[in-house]
Amino acid sequence: MSTFQGKTVIVTGGAMGLGLAASKVLAQKGANLALVDYNEDALNKAKAEIAGLAPNSKIITVVADVSNEEAVKNYVDTTVAEFGTIDGFYNNAGIEGKQAPLVDYDLEVFKKVIDINLMGVYYGLKHVIPVMQKKGGGKIVNVASVGGIRGVINQMPYVASKHAVSGMTKNAAIEYGKDGIYTNAIAPGAILTPMVAEAFKQVNPADPKAAEAEYAQRNPTRKLGDPKDVGNLVAFLLSDECQYVNGQTIAIDGGESNLY
Ligand code: NAD
Repeated sequence: MSTFQGKTVIVTGGAMGLGLAASKVLAQKGANLALVDYNEDALNKAKAEIAGLAPNSKIITVVADVSNEEAVKNYVDTTVAEFGTIDGFYNNAGIEGKQAPLVDYDLEVFKKVIDINLMGVYYGLKHVIPVMQKKGGGKIVNVASVGGIRGVINQMPYVASKHAVSGMTKNAAIEYGKDGIYTNAIAPGAILTPMVAEAFKQVNPADPKAAEAEYAQRNPTRKLGDPKDVGNLVAFLLSDECQYVNGQTIAIDGGESNLY
C-alpha cells in the first residue's frame, strides 16, 4: 500500500466531489493536505470530515478562486509556508457550465468555463512547478474529462476547456520531465458527484433520477462511477510507486469512451 507519510499534496476543488474523495484517500495514506476551494462553508465541512477519518493528517484550508492568478499564487505560498514544499498537486477544480447548443451558448458562461477549467489549471501549473523544481521533482494530476478526449453534445466550452487540459498536460510533461516532475491527467466519465447530479437535473428537471438510470444503461458496466474509485487512481498517480508515466490522459469511465 502506497504511503504519503510526510508528503504534502494540494487539492483544488477539495471541498466536494472528486476533490473531497481523493483528499480522504490521500489523508488516510498519511498525506498532509492543503485543501483549496472557493466555497468556504463546504471547505470547512470537508476539513472536519477528513480529520475525522484521518486524525494524524495535517490539513490546512485556503479559500481561493482558481481563475484568479493572485489567489492561486497565495494558495501555493501558503502551502509552502506551512509545510515547506509541495510533493503532489491535484489540479482538480472545474465547472460544467450550462448545457446549450453551440450557436445559442451564453458567452459569459463560455468565458467563465474557460477561465476556471483552462486558466485555473494553467495558473496552478505555473505556480506549483517552480516549487517542485526547487525540490527536485513532484507529481501532478490535472483533471480533464471524457469531454477532453471526445465531443459531448451541448457542452462546447466544457469540451474545449478539457481538451486544453489534456494538451497542457502533454506540454508540462515534456517541458518538466527533465526536472523529475511527472504530469498526467485523468478523464473521468460520469462519476456521481454534486456536479453530475446537477447535470442530470438539466437533462430531466422533472425526474433527474430517471436521467441518471438511463445514462448508466449506456455504460459497458451499466453503472455510474464512484468518486472513491477516482480517488484511488489519483493517489496512485501521485505516489512514489507510479514512475515513468508522463503526459498521459487516463480515462476512468467504465470503458464508455471506447463505445462507437
Ligand atoms: P463538484 O461540483 O462536485 O465539485 C467541484 C468543487 O470545485 C466544488 O467544491 C467547487 O466549489 C470547487 N470549485 C469550482 N470552481 C472553483 C473555482 N473557480 N475555484 C475554486 N474552487 C472551485 O464537481 P466534481 O464532479 O467533483 O468535478 C471535479 C472535477 O472533475 C472538475 O474539473 C470536473 O470537470 C471534473 N470531472 C468530473 C466528472 C464527474 O463525473 N463528476 C467527469 C469528468 C470530469
